[in-house]
Amino acid sequence: MVSNTATLSKYANLDQRGKVLAEYIWIDGTNNMRSKCKTLDSLPKSVDELPEWNFDGSSTEQAPGDNSDIYLRPVAIYRDPFRGGDNILVLAECWNNDGTPNKTNYRHECAKLMEAHKDQEIWFGIEQEYTLLDKYDNIYGWPKGGFPAPQGPYYCGVGTGKVNCRDIVEAHYKACLYAGIDISGVNAEVMPSQWEYQVGPCEGISMGDELTVSRYMLHRVGEDFGVKVTFHPKPLKGDWNGAGCHTNVSTRDMRAEGGIKAIENAIEKLSKRHAEHIAVYGEDNEQRLTGRHETASMECFSSGVANRGASVRIPRSVAKEGKGYFEDRRPASNIDPYLVTGIITETICGQIPD
Ligand code: ADP
Ligand code: MN
Ligand code: MN
Ligand code: MN
Ligand code: MN
Repeated sequence: MVSNTATLSKYANLDQRGKVLAEYIWIDGTNNMRSKCKTLDSLPKSVDELPEWNFDGSSTEQAPGDNSDIYLRPVAIYRDPFRGGDNILVLAECWNNDGTPNKTNYRHECAKLMEAHKDQEIWFGIEQEYTLLDKYDNIYGWPKGGFPAPQGPYYCGVGTGKVNCRDIVEAHYKACLYAGIDISGVNAEVMPSQWEYQVGPCEGISMGDELTVSRYMLHRVGEDFGVKVTFHPKPLKGDWNGAGCHTNVSTRDMRAEGGIKAIENAIEKLSKRHAEHIAVYGEDNEQRLTGRHETASMECFSSGVANRGASVRIPRSVAKEGKGYFEDRRPASNIDPYLVTGIITETICGQIPD
């Protein structure tokens, strides 16, 4: 059986006698989300008041069995849309027993980069695409053993047969707003049962944090509806669009009058580190970056105004106004957002000074 959320509501509003439930969330060794819950005596005023915690890393592909304790260090708090009240979601970094960051903890380095370049006020906006699957891992709502009509009517589609599971999308949208995620919009995607939401603009490290928590919440909403969420960049081979995480970027200079110069300068720098970026832009991304289906080839870097077949696109409105932001279209839907926002910051703003 999947969740029975309607019956749960009978218990959900029971008095908690002043206790606060804190759901600690982290990224595991397989790029999936994990969480476990802790009872607190009161609502913490800031993240520093939250206790460090731990879990068995040998069960999450994060540690060997003979040295399995991984530590959870709280880094951000969000209101919990699933439990409501004073209950909270706690995003945590994973640390090893010997005081080094766990192999899954890309946030730590990213946070140092963001801190080093704080003066540039770097903003990100990520367009998270994803695909819904039924419990047998078929694309949700597709005809058994067959295919829907070819792509065309589904992008931003309206009506039965054009979109599936708008209820999940709506529930997730509201959950994000409640939690305090800067979700900026949603739309149905080109492939049926594929959707997108955008998070941002978010400054610095908060981009990775908010995207990570938004993904966690999407999986949780999926539980309620008995539907799986996949962030695989090419869930179905063939003439069907893949899924990406277009990453929109601006610094203070780019947003200022005449900022197009800073944008062009940044694109020039990006063009020189294409391979390094591709290396951290998501697993299986080569299945998606084919040069077809609104992508650029993975082999070489390209850029252009309003060009959705380029690695990096300058939106038409930005070119017109002469300032704003650019869009890196290469990242796959399954990226680690800390790796991606980290390397973009490093390439544009420079390495961390000693
Ligand atoms: P697209 O036309 O590529 O589908 P979307 O509207 O889906 O674009 O997403 C645009 C994203 O760009 C949003 O996440 C938005 O928050 C972000 N964004 C807008 N302005 C800026 C900016 N100045 N810096 C960084 N990101 C921005
Ligand atoms: Mn136990
Ligand atoms: Mn978009
Ligand atoms: Mn899209
Ligand atoms: Mn885009």
